[in-house]
Amino acid sequence: MPVYKAPLRDVKFLMHELLDAPAQLAKMPFYAENDTADGDLMNQVLEEAARFVEGELLPLNAVGDQEGCVRHDDGSVTTPTGFKAAYNKYRAAGWTALDADPAFGGQGMPHLVSNVLVEMMNSTNVAWSMYPGLSHGAYSALHAVGSEELKAIYLPKIVSGEWTGTMCLTEPHAGTDLGIIRTKATQNADGSYAISGTKIFISAGEHDLTPNIVHLVLARLEGSPEGTKGISLFLVPKFLVNPDGSIGERNGVVCGSIEHKMGIHGNATALLNFDGATGYLVGEINKGMNHMFIMMNAARLGTGLQGLGIGETAYQNALAYAKDRTQMRHEPRVNPGENADPIIVHPDVRRMLLTGKAYTEAGRAMAMWLALSIDTEHHHPDEAARKEAADLVALLTPIAKAFMTDNGFNIAVQSQQVFGGHGYIREWGMEQYVRDARIGQIYEGTNGIQALDLLGRKVLMDGGKKLQKLSGILQTFIEEHEGDDDLASMLDQLGKAANQLGSLTMVVGQKAMSGPEGADEVNAVAVDYLRFFGHVVYGYLWARMTKIAHAKIAAGQDRDGFYLAKVQTAQFYFAKLFPETKALAATIKAGNESLAVDDRMFGLERALVGA
Ligand SMILES: Cc1cc2nc3c(=O)[nH]c(=O)nc-3n(C[C@H](O)[C@H](O)[C@H](O)COP(=O)(O)OP(=O)(O)OC[C@H]3O[C@@H](n4cnc5c(N)ncnc54)[C@H](O)[C@@H]3O)c2cc1C
Repeated sequence: MPVYKAPLRDVKFLMHELLDAPAQLAKMPFYAENDTADGDLMNQVLEEAARFVEGELLPLNAVGDQEGCVRHDDGSVTTPTGFKAAYNKYRAAGWTALDADPAFGGQGMPHLVSNVLVEMMNSTNVAWSMYPGLSHGAYSALHAVGSEELKAIYLPKIVSGEWTGTMCLTEPHAGTDLGIIRTKATQNADGSYAISGTKIFISAGEHDLTPNIVHLVLARLEGSPEGTKGISLFLVPKFLVNPDGSIGERNGVVCGSIEHKMGIHGNATALLNFDGATGYLVGEINKGMNHMFIMMNAARLGTGLQGLGIGETAYQNALAYAKDRTQMRHEPRVNPGENADPIIVHPDVRRMLLTGKAYTEAGRAMAMWLALSIDTEHHHPDEAARKEAADLVALLTPIAKAFMTDNGFNIAVQSQQVFGGHGYIREWGMEQYVRDARIGQIYEGTNGIQALDLLGRKVLMDGGKKLQKLSGILQTFIEEHEGDDDLASMLDQLGKAANQLGSLTMVVGQKAMSGPEGADEVNAVAVDYLRFFGHVVYGYLWARMTKIAHAKIAAGQDRDGFYLAKVQTAQFYFAKLFPETKALAATIKAGNESLAVDDRMFGLERALVGA
């Protein structure tokens, strides 16, 4: 069975030494008043979380994969053996309520803490984690824009985990392009709405973990404008709720089928038929897309954490295997009396392991920085600080989703490679990580769409303002450490790449404004741009971590080699991974020209675009 130990040492390093999180959180009255900014308390909660995921979720990961979910003729769905019992323990221990509002039964812990819990859950069992994960998204949207009446009925049930939630956007003909959805809403005499239509690919859309499921559904009210401006958000419970809060009649929503898919078998991906189902408006009419974005932003970081979590566990397993497996000889010999040495001595195996370690630790640093920024955005008493944090969150969210899931999948593949042929065999669990990691790049808006969001909306449409703020943070760090010999070479590389990010943005921006084909320029380079940007952010975080590590080593406080490992992993990152930026700069500059080919190449009779 795969192994996993929660990376608590690294989490504590980031929380206390990199981010100084308890002091930052203590400035926010919400956490100060709820006594949840305390560093020792956060450590204890995460130690408890580690025990839960290692003891309860890890043993169910292979079971869920092999059994999958089963749909019965009446539309009900059974989850794999042990899933329900683990969910009940998770609920009973209060994990569903961890960062939720105390006004609805939550514990009011910082988002920073729940972010680490989610990473660990994803390391041990992505498919299981999606049940509470989607509920959390539903909680966020309802909490932000729901009416007081809806909140009073549904939020305590979702926060306590008694009921779960879903997000229903996708339809057979509409995935990326939600402006063309067809699900209809018609107002009933009592003010509720009748919802009709078909939603596909709905994660956790039907299951046996809880007696009720709260669907948040995008639908179009009759007479609303075309496109995304005519979409509203509705709450549609599987069972209607009686005035006393108990479960009432079955509502008109049924699971028509569940998908057979590449990975995450333990999570039911449901086709849901809504047939005049009773729904309640959430937020304002025709503002559904804006409201859903609240949920989608939370879900995007959550999806990024799937990539991070799988990357961490794949790396841990590859490391354990590489220490144990002996093949070929290395000079000088490690096992002179035996016929082979452990494969961890071979540089190419080290390259694969260090790639996993370097991307994972930088990803964790970014995710925790982002999570603390979300706390700041919501709870800092100073408006300017809230705005700064909100801008950073907006900029980093598509990077967190796409860069972490791309890297997570690559790490899963590289870690599988460390196992040689044994990585391809089910028994070792590595092939499951590869399959489970793949979906993160696709759902929650494909990584291509995340890249368009970053370059198009967050950078160019914003006139580069958010980008400039981030560049300012990087520049200040570089200037403050000028002359620091320990950091000189990293900062030289980082500074050049940060400047180049600015100049590349200008080049793309100018091409984008140069005529009708401008939009294609953005579309052609966005994925490479996001990857370049991701490296700059990771480079900055590696430089900051290196600075702290050097100080600890100089002070003689590195008994277990943790800080030396940070320095050397950073050196590997800048030597072997960061130079990818050079190739990316070239492909960004190459723009759309080589893509605008004669369409007969694709078997089309007439040119759709291009020459
Ligand atoms: C296992 C699973 C679970 C899911 N869970 C949920 C869920 O809980 N709720 C929910 O609502 N949905 C869910 N989805 C749906 C998922 O979010 C969509 O599949 C995804 O957003 C992509 O939509 P699509 O599949 O229709 O692809 P399409 O939109 O058809 O895209 C096809 C390709 O075209 C590209 N493309 C499209 N438009 C552009 C453009 N303008 N520029 C450049 N490239 C473009 C895309 O990037 C993609 O590569 C799930 C899907 C799966 C497989």
